[in-house]
Order: sequence, then C-alpha cells, then structure tokens
Amino acid sequence: MKNRMALFGVMVLILVLGIGALVTTWKPKTRTVGKLQIVTTLFPWYDFARSLVGNDGTVTLLLPPGVDAHSFEPSPRDIQTIEQADVLMYSGNTMEPWLKGLLSSLASQQLTVVDASAGIQLIGAVFHDPDEPVGTLDPHFWLDFGNDQLVIDHLQQILSERDPTHQQDYLSRAKQLKQQLTALDLQYQQTFSSCPNKTLVYGGHYALGYLAKRYGLQYRAAQGVAPDAEPSAQDLVNLVDDIKANHVLTVYDEALSSPKIAQTLANETQAKLLAINPAHNVSKADLDSGVTFVEIMEHNLHQLVEGQPCPTL
Ligand SMILES: [Zn+2]
Repeated sequence: MKNRMALFGVMVLILVLGIGALVTTWKPKTRTVGKLQIVTTLFPWYDFARSLVGNDGTVTLLLPPGVDAHSFEPSPRDIQTIEQADVLMYSGNTMEPWLKGLLSSLASQQLTVVDASAGIQLIGAVFHDPDEPVGTLDPHFWLDFGNDQLVIDHLQQILSERDPTHQQDYLSRAKQLKQQLTALDLQYQQTFSSCPNKTLVYGGHYALGYLAKRYGLQYRAAQGVAPDAEPSAQDLVNLVDDIKANHVLTVYDEALSSPKIAQTLANETQAKLLAINPAHNVSKADLDSGVTFVEIMEHNLHQLVEGQPCPTL
C-alpha cells in the first residue's frame, strides 16, 4: 500500500513538473489577435493606411526608403511579409506588374488584396518616351487628389469589412484625411488659377501628368512614365526650345533621383532648379520623421509657387 502511494506521488509529481515545463516553454504568438496587419507597396498607400488604422493595426511599407518605385521587385522576405498580412494594398498592374504573378503563387488564405487603381480612370502620357508604346498609361494617379478620395473610400471599406468592430473609427479617420486632401486641392486650384505661367517643365520622368491635368498646366517631362531611359539629344533640344518659348523660369528636378538632366536644361536656359517629389517614395530621414503625403504635397506646392512663380495666396 505504502509503495503504491509512493508510486502515485511520483506520478503526480511528474505530471505537475510536465505541465510546469509546458507552461514555461509556451509563448503567446507575436501577432496580436484582432489587430490588422497591412502591407503596402508605395508610400501614398502606406500613409493612407497608417492614417486610417491608427492604433488598430500595423502598416508595413515594402518599398525601402529612397529606392526607385518603378524598378522595385519584392525580396523573398517581402513575400513572407505579404503572406502573413491581412491586407495588401498596391498600385495596380500598370505600376506593379510583378504582383499579378506573385498573387497566384501565394498560399495565404486570409489576405485581402486592395488594388488602389480599381475604379480610377488612368490617363495616357501626353509626351511619351519613344521607347514606350503610344497610349502607355500613366500609373501616377495618386497625384490627383480626387483619385485619392476614391482610394481612401476603397481602403476604408476593406478595413471595415476585415475588422467591423472598428468601422466607426475607420470611417471618421477616412473623413478627416479626405478633408485634409480637399483643403489641399482647393489651395492648388486657387494657386494655379491666379498663376500666369502654366508651363511645368520637369527634368525627371513623366510623373506629374495627373497634377498638371487637374490644375490646367502644360506639362513637359524629360523622360517617359518610367525613369528607365535617358532622353535623346534631340529631346533635350526640343525641351530647351519649349523652355525659352514659354518663358519658363524654373526647371524642376526629381527628389530622390539624379538631377543631371534637369541641371543640363537649367544650364542651357538660365532657369533655376527646384525639387519636386512625386511621392512614390520618401527618403529614410523623412520616413523616420513621420512625414505624410499631405506634407509632401504641401512642400511641392510651395516649390511650385516659388518656381513658376505664382502669387502667394
Ligand atoms: Zn514614377
């Protein structure tokens, strides 16, 4: 009897120790239940997603700071990040053709894909690179604040579907962001309606077509919709002629890119140089400081007011 009691005691002890070991080795999953994980390709989507989710989710920007968005392709680690996410927001197949193939190979069951360009009328580049086919669509649709309103509504709907408990938060944050963009749009409209010189010369790629169209500007760019080809000598001569004929005082160079072409144009015409960021991406310092899409576009307007010049409102 004594022996059986002792054996029972030992078994209980083993069981207790076993459970204890199990408890100490068990760790909670790092993913917080209920919090949405959102992955975005370009900076504007990162910024909009961040504004809408607040503290109710996490947002990851795939594009490393300072990198050219047109030549970006995801690394194996990025693909893993996408597979673990709840929502992936991208610019559409015109800007990011790599995603189409990737999506069909993803094993993720929970991923909702948001095509930011869905429901948006893409426009063709008016002045195109001879290497790009006529009718090439311009993927920089985020530089039309009207399009951004549609993108934000679309994102808000998806977030509310994936996380209905925070629907009211997503709605009110979307409303707030859209109000900021409406105010900025009005500022751009008023600025350009009173600005005598409406020719906009960009020494970078054809990124500002939507902005130019929305505010009635004549737009000339040194490169096509993707920054992959140097302009020919004849293209540069034509641009120099345009600058002189239209009494253009400023050539804008592209933030985060080489200012070489813009510098050549400015040297030939005595125009001054000012940088504009088409907001696909930001520098590491700007990303770390938490710069927003609205702030980038406010700065761009500031540059345009100084460069055209336009009367200050
Ligand atoms: Zn671009």
